[in-house]
Amino acid sequence: MLGLMQDWPLLVHKVLDHAATYAGDKEIVTRGIEGPIRRTNWQAVHERSRRLAKALARRGIKSGDRLATLAWNTERHLESWYGITGAGGVYHTLNPRLFPEQLIYIANHAEDRMIFVDLTFVPILEKLQAELKTVETYVILTDAAHMPQTGLRNAIAYEELLKEADDDFAWVTLDENAACGLCYTSGTTGNPKGVLYSHRSNVLHAMAVLGADVLALSNADTVLPIVPMFHANAWSLSFSAPMTGTKMVMPGAKLDGESVYNLLEDEQVTMSAAVPTVWLMLLQHMEANNLKLSTLKRVAIGGSACPPSMIEKFERNYGVEVMHAWGMTELSPVGTIGSLLARDRLRPYDEQLKIKSKQGRPIFGVEMKILDDNGKELPRDGKAFGHLVVRGPAISKGYFKGEGGNVLDHEGFFDTGDVATLDADGYMQITDRAKDVIKSGGEWISSIDIENIAVGHPAVAIAAVIGIAHPKWDERPLLIVQLKPGAEATREDLLKFLEGKIAKWWMPDDVAFVDAIPVGPTGKIQKLSLRDVFKSHVLPGAAGGAGKAAE
Ligand code: ADP
Repeated sequence: MLGLMQDWPLLVHKVLDHAATYAGDKEIVTRGIEGPIRRTNWQAVHERSRRLAKALARRGIKSGDRLATLAWNTERHLESWYGITGAGGVYHTLNPRLFPEQLIYIANHAEDRMIFVDLTFVPILEKLQAELKTVETYVILTDAAHMPQTGLRNAIAYEELLKEADDDFAWVTLDENAACGLCYTSGTTGNPKGVLYSHRSNVLHAMAVLGADVLALSNADTVLPIVPMFHANAWSLSFSAPMTGTKMVMPGAKLDGESVYNLLEDEQVTMSAAVPTVWLMLLQHMEANNLKLSTLKRVAIGGSACPPSMIEKFERNYGVEVMHAWGMTELSPVGTIGSLLARDRLRPYDEQLKIKSKQGRPIFGVEMKILDDNGKELPRDGKAFGHLVVRGPAISKGYFKGEGGNVLDHEGFFDTGDVATLDADGYMQITDRAKDVIKSGGEWISSIDIENIAVGHPAVAIAAVIGIAHPKWDERPLLIVQLKPGAEATREDLLKFLEGKIAKWWMPDDVAFVDAIPVGPTGKIQKLSLRDVFKSHVLPGAAGGAGKAAE
């Protein structure tokens, strides 16, 4: 017997309808790429998105067509997403930090018909356009007055495109399972693969993310999504904020500490989200200038492990609650978040900090378990670690055009490629990416644990730990350090700092100092390139056959 409830497809443009109707005057503030701050509201974004959808429909855009964006977080980027999906198309976020060959591959693979591009990235596309076979039109996200001289095919200023239609347009009717958004994973190995979100998955995920134990967004909040819309859907904020009519502050191209600080204060931001490297810049700026935060209440930190020292700094020095989150493009992207169980909130702060340093508990709609190498489930005891697999309605079941083949196991679980522990309360802790774990004498060493502690040293800006081949132990850890500007520390200082904080056999066999640790297109340390740079590194004692520190 079927239920007797209405068939109301979960479509993302219904989210925008809701925001415009019930929070129409709530602002969206943008630091424009052209310079000045621009202000609009949900009602105007709704109107302009419909104009765009109508203009696109007139230009022959049909359901399922992919239209790319190569853009910072701005109100125009937001309107582009809603306008594209409202016309039945699929927004496809291109990550400007990718190498040109990757951008070419991705745009051709997606068969993008248009690219909406910020002024900043016009020169990149001018160099690539001969190779971008399917792109018919380039929409420059600016107005006629700021339109650059460009040889891009059929280039038009975004504001001029909007003038081609009025807003008398009914969103295209779609099945809720229709494709909505496309985002390629960086593909550190092999070609990038397209994760294809549906309207339904985006809406369900945004609803889950809104919850009080997740991002807890409310109409009373002001949210600053620093995490780019081109990186894993901006952690869903472009859908969850309008669900509750939250004021949004879009940072545009300026993500340095000073610019972010000024936006936080000027716009009275209460909640924000970014990867650790961005927060590091903000913290350094505030420390150097003795600044405080007057309105910020919560920050979500994820994308790579958030060191406990960062959580503590935010919470103790600035009174800002940290929600440590884990996710991936294939999960829409939030999988777990570090809000504490009621009983854990009563613990002394140091114990809370330990729990908060884990990656958190699954949000609704994410089932997870850990498996050994033979696919057997491991206990949820907080100790056993294994391959983390996940299942749920906003998790990929395959990649665009079938790349990578079947990605689900016989029970429908997706292998995240991460190695993790799970405890009885559901807290998950990432040990490593499977390809980054250090295998020493048959046991695994967690590079993330060592990095987390090393960045707690006052002189260290970024730390990375990689495995170096060793004749006796297979691999031993090498700690690679980028010091803070002007700071000093020796190999011995750092090893001493780790002593007593990690198991003896986890102690790095050596420490190397570099000017800059390479960071990839989604803010993660590029271990692949570090492994390449240090591939001939000889650890002390290794040439003789046995790692001294390992004994
Ligand atoms: P990519 O950078 O590969 O394109 P994602 O941005 O989707 O893709 O990255 C997902 C990966 O980032 C996860 O599988 C995990 O390894 C890592 N990650 C994300 N959040 C965290 C976190 N809080 N702690 C540790 N690792 C994380």
